[in-house]
Amino acid sequence: LKIVALAGGTGAAKFLRGLVAVADPSDVTIVGNTGDDLELWGLSISPDLDTVMYTLAGRVDEAKGWGVANDSFHVRAAMARLGCDTFFALGDEDIATHLHRTERLRAGLTLSQVTDELRTKLGVRSPILPMSDDRVRTRVKTPGGWLDFQEFFVRDRCGPDVVDVRYEGAERSRVAPGVIEAIHTADVVILCPSNPVSSVGPILAVPGVLGALVETTAHVVAVSPIVGGAAVSGPAAKMMRAKGLEVSVAGVARAYEGLLDALVVDTRDGAFAEDLRATGTSVVVTDIVMADRTREIALAQDVLKSAP
Ligand code: GDP
Repeated sequence: LKIVALAGGTGAAKFLRGLVAVADPSDVTIVGNTGDDLELWGLSISPDLDTVMYTLAGRVDEAKGWGVANDSFHVRAAMARLGCDTFFALGDEDIATHLHRTERLRAGLTLSQVTDELRTKLGVRSPILPMSDDRVRTRVKTPGGWLDFQEFFVRDRCGPDVVDVRYEGAERSRVAPGVIEAIHTADVVILCPSNPVSSVGPILAVPGVLGALVETTAHVVAVSPIVGGAAVSGPAAKMMRAKGLEVSVAGVARAYEGLLDALVVDTRDGAFAEDLRATGTSVVVTDIVMADRTREIALAQDVLKSAP
């Protein structure tokens, strides 16, 4: 079974850890969001690609859901003493990843090439493709003005109201090599349980991706990041409202309108299933909160079972 997974960071990473336990990891091609990439201290940082990579490598900090387990923060402390911006926490081992990425990008490699090198060096068997090698930046409009995604997410801890979200640079970005081919030749395409606006939205905004999802003969299935009318974690609710989407599985279905063969929702949202089925989407009702490894694996199995 050839599988393509469109992925953000933390929600996607947990799901993918379950998926590679039930499918051959080398048959799972991950297309990662780069809309929340940033530059700090001269380093090129790709938080979502790294969260997925560290998680599949078994190196992620489980408590935080990002960064490397048991990392130290000496560099960050020293940068703070120098008066540098330290709002975005980078551990020392994590910094090695960003130093390496930055060095290789400066040597002329593309983000796709560097990402493939990094995941291979970390022993991750699933290809991880950034959505684009071009710069795309998710920006968040608040009553105080436009913020970079990480200013909103990390520095301001998702506090400000969200008025709008845009994907700067997406329109003229080129989809990364291999993404369209992977979607076209896949048996199953999974939209991971990720923020529909800030994680999957930027991937869908890269020209060519939507068309490929519509055209592919693959079974296209999404796992809802919304359970019982709220996000399991993070600012998905605020961001969905800003995009005129109801914070519910119906809102998730609307965000992916025209793309899905199936939507996987939580038992708490079983009541919505009939309404959704009426729109022609098949609905799988199961426990979609990944509280532990067993649930991650069970969810991955349920998602694959939704395919004919
Ligand atoms: P981010 O870049 O870290 O925000 O990464 P994602 O977008 O992949 O992950 C955040 C999203 O995952 C949020 O919208 C959460 O509601 C969702 N999420 C987190 N944990 C779970 C879970 O256990 N089950 C489901 N269904 N969704 C989850």
